[in-house]
Amino acid sequence: MISVKKAQLIISKKIQPLGFESVSLNNARNRVLAQNFIANNPMPQFNNSAMDGFAVCAADTEGANQFSPKTLMMVGVSSAGIPSKIILESGECAQCMTGGKIPKGANSIVIVENSSGFLDSKAVKIFKEAKIGDHIRKQGEEIQEGNVVISKGTCITPSETGVLAAFGCEKISVVIKPKVAILVTGNELVEPGHKIKLGQIYNSNFYMLSELVEQSGAEIVMSEVIKDNKNSLQKSFSKALQLCDIIISSGGVSMGRFDYVREIYNELGVQEHFWKIAQKPGKPLFFGTKGTSLIFGLPGNPISSFICYMKYIHPAIQGLQRKKRSQQHRGILTEDFPIDTKKHRYLFGKSWINSYGKLLCAPTSKMGSHMLTASLESNCILESPPGKCKLKAGDEIIINLLNWRNLK
Ligand code: AMP
Ligand code: MG
Repeated sequence: MISVKKAQLIISKKIQPLGFESVSLNNARNRVLAQNFIANNPMPQFNNSAMDGFAVCAADTEGANQFSPKTLMMVGVSSAGIPSKIILESGECAQCMTGGKIPKGANSIVIVENSSGFLDSKAVKIFKEAKIGDHIRKQGEEIQEGNVVISKGTCITPSETGVLAAFGCEKISVVIKPKVAILVTGNELVEPGHKIKLGQIYNSNFYMLSELVEQSGAEIVMSEVIKDNKNSLQKSFSKALQLCDIIISSGGVSMGRFDYVREIYNELGVQEHFWKIAQKPGKPLFFGTKGTSLIFGLPGNPISSFICYMKYIHPAIQGLQRKKRSQQHRGILTEDFPIDTKKHRYLFGKSWINSYGKLLCAPTSKMGSHMLTASLESNCILESPPGKCKLKAGDEIIINLLNWRNLK
């Protein structure tokens, strides 16, 4: 049995980040940017108006107010997409809509509400003094040409997609998605939607793990439910080893008479790096490699599977995708946490920020590794290394937030 730290180190040393591929922007969701995205032009690209109004020379409006407006001659129109070639002379103005290029000679925008309006086609009255730069979006004020806009390793979310499109980028280089097999084992398993007999249970791990793999940004290329039968296990596992970067099996890896998973991995030439970690839940976790494939044998209990996935497989998928690691937090317990003298202890829990801005947390009261409903009310996994002193309310503990949940 090895420590959690040792197990994490062993896995991290076996991760070889995947290569790159080019995808179009509308297929880039949740992918990881392979190279820095550099601004190929300044943003905005040209000086343009932030409001609908009149482009003016600010000096021409000096002293203008409601009672003594200044009158300017309207000489043209500049609107979004249709720039005007006019050059403003003193005493002149041009209609200029939001997004319209600022005509040469103008240095300020008077909003239409402070004028006699667009209907005055020749002489326009200005009711408010303008200052140089009013309502002008300056070329390059957001990003200068040549600057890094999005750094490599960033996950493409709606913000990145929008910004890439705003720079006219249609194809981007992203990290190849890890290919994953989910192989669920157990004679007792029945698929949701079917009738169940005494002694059987529904296969929840497959559905839960599939969602988790999707959340991590990997691609499920093979999924099977396999009986505790050596031949069937051998067949499915060997196919998965040929196809996948990551093989995740569930169940059959403990001490039971029908737990063949470890034996089959060994028979198929998987190099075992560890089996059993000093942790609760999830002690029988298996980890091996064959070539560049990473093989994880999760214990079947749903909470063990879930927590082992989040602590070992999710970081591995992030590593393959060159993603930055998720951050851990520390918070104050509002209830005691059942620390173990020898094992690293994990429990689902709730975390929240109180009115003084402190991060607080409490473990779930459902402590059994078979109690999947514990995850319903939780937004984090609390963890504590082994220790002699009990963790009491008021003590600090490590919080792993589940990124698809909010702080309660
Ligand atoms: P095992 O690791 O195969 O010994 O299974 C440990 C416990 O987890 C047993 O109570 C199994 O019935 C249960 N279990 C195994 N696989 C699944 C699954 N896919 N979905 C839900 N529970 C499971
Ligand atoms: Mg089993």
